[in-house]
Amino acid sequence: MKRRNFIIKTGITGAALSATPSISSKPILKELHMNYKYPVAVATWNFQNATKMAGSMLEKGATALDSVEKGVMVEEANLKNITVGDGGAPDRDGNVTLDACIMSPDGNAGSVVYLKEIAHPVSVARKVMEETPHVMLAGEGALQFAIQQGFKKKNLLTEESEKAWQEWLEHKEYKPIINIENHDTIGMLCLDDNGDISGACTTSGLSYKINGRVGDSPIIGAGLFLDNEIGGAVGTGMGEAIMKSVGSFLIVELMRQGKSPQEACEEAVMRTVKAAPNYKDFQVAYVALNKEGEIGSYCIHKGFSYAKFYRGESTDNLSASYLDE
Ligand code: ASP
Repeated sequence: MKRRNFIIKTGITGAALSATPSISSKPILKELHMNYKYPVAVATWNFQNATKMAGSMLEKGATALDSVEKGVMVEEANLKNITVGDGGAPDRDGNVTLDACIMSPDGNAGSVVYLKEIAHPVSVARKVMEETPHVMLAGEGALQFAIQQGFKKKNLLTEESEKAWQEWLEHKEYKPIINIENHDTIGMLCLDDNGDISGACTTSGLSYKINGRVGDSPIIGAGLFLDNEIGGAVGTGMGEAIMKSVGSFLIVELMRQGKSPQEACEEAVMRTVKAAPNYKDFQVAYVALNKEGEIGSYCIHKGFSYAKFYRGESTDNLSASYLDE
């Protein structure tokens, strides 16, 4: 029996729960989820180092929140990854602008958009969540806040990303290339030993986007959503399509209605496919994790994969099922 059912069946309402401090959700979750497979870490794409980092933390008893933050930071620091963090491709005017968000098991969320010169936007998002009454900070204000919080400014445009941008300027052709040009956002979900789930998503967004463009990745409900009673979902690919269907929120709600993570991801992708006659021109991919530790993933086009870690198993990369070649 899940906690939700327990609450319904015993007639304990949210108000009653909060008015009864002696009733804690933790022992119930622990007891009810005894047979589930914890801990789990799962991330979009072949980000095995990031997933290993999160997995090894979870194995040592770290919280899902700490593990998901440190996990995605591996890719934010990876200069070879041109779509996340330091070394991320700039917009068409040469600005590297980063988007990130994080969610904790209590449903709290933090996000930064259009953040420049800070290599770890996910950690700034966590500070927004923990140190402010807000959910999202943008642009100059987000940068100011980061500096106040002790983050150091850094030029994120590397020699390589500047050179690639200069080459792009020769043709200035803006055309997403499925699975290649601009889809390496890392979205990660972790389920810890307590059965608590957290998630994070971080990106430099679409390469050579219009200055000011923000995608789905830092938008709670679009690039990431979770509910600690149900599970979570993360998205990658064409952010505009993910935002229009509020994809990650949709997946969590579908799981709430009883769908498996796989079924929920499939339905979310199909929503986009039905709504967008040009779906053959872009990728949308999701990964979902439920509270039982089950993972599902689906995408429009072949080529998307996800990295997963379960206790006692080595980190693995799996191809997601897809609709179309
Ligand atoms: N979803 C990201 C965005 O639209 C891009 C990606 O997943 O690579 O900004």
